Amino acid sequence: MTPWDEKQARLRAFLTRGAVGDLTVALLRSLAKMSPCIFCKIIQSESPSAILYRDEQVTAFRDAHPAAPVHILIVPNRHILSVNELEPGEEPLIGRLFSVAKQLAQQEGIRESGYRLIVNTGAHGGQTVPHLHLHLIGGQRMRHPMG
Ligand code: 5GP
Ligand code: ZN
Repeated sequence: MTPWDEKQARLRAFLTRGAVGDLTVALLRSLAKMSPCIFCKIIQSESPSAILYRDEQVTAFRDAHPAAPVHILIVPNRHILSVNELEPGEEPLIGRLFSVAKQLAQQEGIRESGYRLIVNTGAHGGQTVPHLHLHLIGGQRMRHPMG
């Protein structure tokens, strides 16, 4: 072990043991509370956004950087990281996301012209916000093929 490794190990032991350990955990918890994910902030109306729909399970709002004339994000109110973190009991919630998408497509006048529903997952899927969301995109013919 190098002197640097020893220093690191001593610091880690100091920060994680006893009263100082408790303090470290409390500090990390309050830091996490201070910066919840951006979609949680929108759901809790702490961040300005054009909310189009809200119920006890789901919230929908316009994407800040629309990829098409209509670009809406439909998200579960509960902070679920991605499809990977879905529990079997949450299947009805996914149905709800699609029902709200259908309703909003009608409301936005793109039901008949068509639209695309996308759920990006993880790095290769292009997910940039770690809060599960369904993109509803329409109002123009989609130009990009899959992948
Ligand atoms: P992803 O790339 O994770 O599938 O999609 C994330 C989407 O969230 C992107 O289309 C991005 O434009 C949108 N987005 C990121 N930050 C914000 C924000 O603060 N407000 C809103 N309304 N949309 C956001
Ligand atoms: Zn969140």
